[in-house]
Amino acid sequence: MAYDTAILFRDDSYLKTIDATVLAINERGGILTDQTVFYATSGGQPGDTGVFVRSDGSTITIAATVTGETKEEIIHVPAPDQPVPAIGEKLSLRLDWDRRYKLMRMHTACHLLSVVCPFPITGASVSEDDSRVDFDLPDAGVTKESVTQKMMELVNANHPIFTRWITDDELAANPGLIKSKNVRPPTGTGRIRLVCIGENASVDSQPCGGTHVATTGEVGAIHIGKIEKKGKENRRFRIRFGPLPEGV
Ligand SMILES: [Zn+2]
Repeated sequence: MAYDTAILFRDDSYLKTIDATVLAINERGGILTDQTVFYATSGGQPGDTGVFVRSDGSTITIAATVTGETKEEIIHVPAPDQPVPAIGEKLSLRLDWDRRYKLMRMHTACHLLSVVCPFPITGASVSEDDSRVDFDLPDAGVTKESVTQKMMELVNANHPIFTRWITDDELAANPGLIKSKNVRPPTGTGRIRLVCIGENASVDSQPCGGTHVATTGEVGAIHIGKIEKKGKENRRFRIRFGPLPEGV
């Protein structure tokens, strides 16, 4: 059976801690709760880590967060040899916020890259220190310096970032919203989450279920570390934190 968890990071990606009640422990020891702030691995963004604090102050370390049968089912995976909470037990769920915030900055940087390089996306992966976006792009025709400069213009403009929900029909009427070549956003649930950048989404909007920072300025200094050729049709762009190293 599937459990529905109230997924709080969708509406507020800045929630770091929440009290929750244990609904179930699955056959592999994963913990399901009535609500969570832990993002589950999806769309190239890794799931959250952190701790669950029990009423006696002891902790259960959470090593990963994944989705179950549906995207609505969020499973917190404990590290090895952690105590198992009881069904109905109340816990305080606490994110590893430093890690999550880096992932939010990096994930948002991937959106900025897709604005600067408006080509079909064939893959993407976010991590704490390095992210990559693959484009269907036979000839790069751009340099890491020029792309870095355009991304930093978006960062420095400090555009607002917000989400809004649209219907399947609205998405169908606006196919240009979809940037990925192979991955279609899930339709059929009736609504789709759009991540918008700029006043009235003037910079960009695209379907995404991940966590993002609230303004482009929060992304901070980033640069393109590398543009790699991946096969005949693909170029892989690597995003890193900090300014572009000089003389490289
Ligand atoms: Zn996103």
